[in-house]
Amino acid sequence: MKIGFIGLGNMGAPMAANLVNAGHDVSGFDTLEVTVEGVDIAECAAAAARGAEVVITMLPNGTIMRDVAAEIIPVMDKSAVFLDCSTVDLDSAREVAQQAEQAGLLAVDAPVSGGTVGASAGTLTFMAGGSEAGFAKVEPLFDIMGQKAVHCGGSGAGQAAKICNNMILGATMIVTCEAFALADKLGLDRQKMFDVVSTSSGYSWSMNAYCPAPGIGPQSPADNGYQPGFAAELMLKDLRLAQHAAESVDADTPIGKLAQRLYAQFVENEDGKGRDFSAMLPRFEKRGRGSEPRSD
Ligand code: NAD
Repeated sequence: MKIGFIGLGNMGAPMAANLVNAGHDVSGFDTLEVTVEGVDIAECAAAAARGAEVVITMLPNGTIMRDVAAEIIPVMDKSAVFLDCSTVDLDSAREVAQQAEQAGLLAVDAPVSGGTVGASAGTLTFMAGGSEAGFAKVEPLFDIMGQKAVHCGGSGAGQAAKICNNMILGATMIVTCEAFALADKLGLDRQKMFDVVSTSSGYSWSMNAYCPAPGIGPQSPADNGYQPGFAAELMLKDLRLAQHAAESVDADTPIGKLAQRLYAQFVENEDGKGRDFSAMLPRFEKRGRGSEPRSD
């Protein structure tokens, strides 16, 4: 298949490389000077998109995704698929899908879970929104870049699934970290805490697969000085998207809101920027009661 790939960053580059390794013809573009083995680097986004059957975008946010969409939709072949794998706000996902469809294209929003490790290994989970026809056309590409793809519904449904998932993730990581800090103060050994919780009703992905305590459980960023992994600022971005979406539909999400406040404080007022999102544990270790998060 002839594929355009725009946004060859931490996620996009290994995803594009996997498509090349599976025999696809990939033309890529990034505003930074990048090289990805086997990817033909075009001089602009429109050049990468022209003549492609599928154009994949993997960009930092909705504003940038909208700008790129405005540039490439007019030059894309009719009935080609615009496949956005970035994590963006629902409004951007839906409006761009509508513009693409009005131009005679198919549009799929398919944000991912699995991080840079999953992008390299081709084990991402894709959560997709869009038409059956669009999903069917890109499903073979999901099989290459990932291990699972769920068609969640119409345009924006993929983004809705992503922000709900990451709201759960942010909240469970915080409570897992605060529980470790509490256990320390209660004199409970961390390994014993892990042994109990990981096989009891408090288990979660944060505890079992990505334990925030160094030297406990499987290898995780905690064992590597809390280098990301999944950076705290990316978690903050997703929690903000979740709150923005919750406000737009009048959904009551008090824990998600508090998680957003805590990550905002951690990233913007403390030392969280550039650290893994599980570095909430050393943050809680240093604190006592009475230090409430800021109120915005
Ligand atoms: P990144 O910043 O490493 O990559 C984004 C790339 O887009 C950069 O290389 C940047 O130069 C490029 N770019 C910016 N503006 C551009 C433009 N106008 N035209 C072309 N290229 C442009 O980010 P990432 O970690 O690869 O994340 C990409 C998306 O995936 C984000 O939406 C993020 O939320 C989501 N995501 C990331 C992870 C993760 O663990 N990193 C996990 C799941 C989802």
